[in-house]
Amino acid sequence: MLCSPEELLQKNQALSATWQRYRAAPSADTFVELAVSINSFTEFLIDKGVTALHHASHQLEQITLAFFSSDTEHPLPPAALDDLDARLAALDRMVQTQVSTASDFTERRHAPRHARPNDGRGSQVWLIGSRPDDWNELLTQLGYFGLNPGFARWDEALPDTIGMAPLLLLDLASLPETEWGPRIQSLRSRFEMGQLIGLGVRSDFDPLQQALRNGCDSCLLAGMPPHAVVEHIMELDERHDQEAYRVLIVEDSKTASALIRRTLEENQIASEIVNDPRQALRALRQFNPDLILMDMYMPNCTGVEVARVIRQHGEFLSTPIVYLSGETNVALQVDAMRLGGDHFLTKPFNPVFLNAIVKSKIERYRALRRTMYHDSLTGLLNHSSGKHTMEMVLSTVAHEGGFLSVVMMDIDHFKHINDSYGHPTGDQVIRSLSWLLKQRLRKQDVICRYGGEEFLIALPHTDAEQAYGIVDRIRQDFSQIRHPFGDRYFLATASGGIATYPLYQNGDSLIKAADEALYAAKRDGRNRIHADEL
Ligand code: GH3
Ligand code: MG
Ligand code: MG
Ligand code: MG
Repeated sequence: MLCSPEELLQKNQALSATWQRYRAAPSADTFVELAVSINSFTEFLIDKGVTALHHASHQLEQITLAFFSSDTEHPLPPAALDDLDARLAALDRMVQTQVSTASDFTERRHAPRHARPNDGRGSQVWLIGSRPDDWNELLTQLGYFGLNPGFARWDEALPDTIGMAPLLLLDLASLPETEWGPRIQSLRSRFEMGQLIGLGVRSDFDPLQQALRNGCDSCLLAGMPPHAVVEHIMELDERHDQEAYRVLIVEDSKTASALIRRTLEENQIASEIVNDPRQALRALRQFNPDLILMDMYMPNCTGVEVARVIRQHGEFLSTPIVYLSGETNVALQVDAMRLGGDHFLTKPFNPVFLNAIVKSKIERYRALRRTMYHDSLTGLLNHSSGKHTMEMVLSTVAHEGGFLSVVMMDIDHFKHINDSYGHPTGDQVIRSLSWLLKQRLRKQDVICRYGGEEFLIALPHTDAEQAYGIVDRIRQDFSQIRHPFGDRYFLATASGGIATYPLYQNGDSLIKAADEALYAAKRDGRNRIHADEL
């Protein structure tokens, strides 16, 4: 989410409080608290992209960590205390300055993933300008992707129904440069958490600096064609769709697990606790963590045993496992690692290291997963992981009872598109259909690039009729998207076939039936969706 001044001040206050506590009662414990607080502040600033502050906080973190050893005596020597005091005071001044100018929050917006067409008033995307006619094409194109922007003139008030973090596209070219400052600033202060994008800004230094300084997050330069603006906005949406990190804590001690959870929470990491190791597998399936923190000794089994059981399941083969244990026996640690662990942290754990290790392991794990399971052109699940995920969703639906609709979608006459406009343009058409699918479908839906220009979609708890409604709407909107080619554009269409569980009982028969339905749609003339059941 975006960084609001309140959030920043609150974090800053928490940091000052831990410093005061350390000054009042200097001990290893209060120092650890201070270090955690500095670390958490630094991570927060990195997350929020508040660069100026982040450097100062990072330096402070490095200095604190240098004192982080068991033989450091507390209080620290007077010179070290004075240095820390001065640095914390300097950081505090920078925070106050930052908050009072409040112009440098280069922040992110979480994607409205479930964005669906609406009447515009509740829209989270607005174009502000002078002449709506100048922007018809952009507004229409964004609409096809489910963003449905509203339009407001510069002197018109935006409705109260707008949320806290809208995406605002500002037609700066329609406003004299002398008016940019007050206009942008007033939007910036009303929507601290919003994303402000300047459109049509001249590429010279001065106008760009003005737009950014007054509160735009980014600018799209004058002369950028509408389709490129659409692309930029869709990519912006995608990049910030990072989900919070998730950690499963397998630990029999309720106190220890609560402590770990609190440390993780301070760093915006979501966690789930399993006190009985035999529940670990079930929790893994339900919570789908990015990492497991595993206690070494538990009543019914050891952490190594749990790790071995977990590793028998293909889908958890690469989930990182970090052991937490009081064990200092090196041979045992080596064994634990050999048997499926990725790292060993000894208790009492150092929260700063815990956080750093958890984050770096998760980052690597996510990067690995992206390349292993996702297609590089569209970012969607690739063929094999899409099929696998669909099977998993099917087994959940079968267990819970309900429908699962499987859709096979394929772009029509794609060979012709490649032949006429070239392969790179063909790729762009594939990407636009994938954006549309990502925008329109829910988080729990499976979207996969099954083949070249073929997509496999699985919609849990959706019957054939509902699936038809959703997919046909996507088909219609896809057929309206203008794909640029030189200074002209062309249109493309797609066809789809639907098959639904429980009429078809397993993954293979669902895919086969959806494929046959797709071919029926092609035979009937393309640009249509076919479902046998309807
Ligand atoms: P139909 O309406 O029956 O689906 O006709 P079609 O031309 O789309 O038929 P087909 O599915 O046989 O053609 C798919 C073409 O897509 C063949 C292949 O060269 C091309 N293709 C496959 N992968 C990619 C890709 O990643 N990028 C691009 N640009 N083209 C691809
Ligand atoms: Mg234990
Ligand atoms: Mg095709
Ligand atoms: Mg095909």
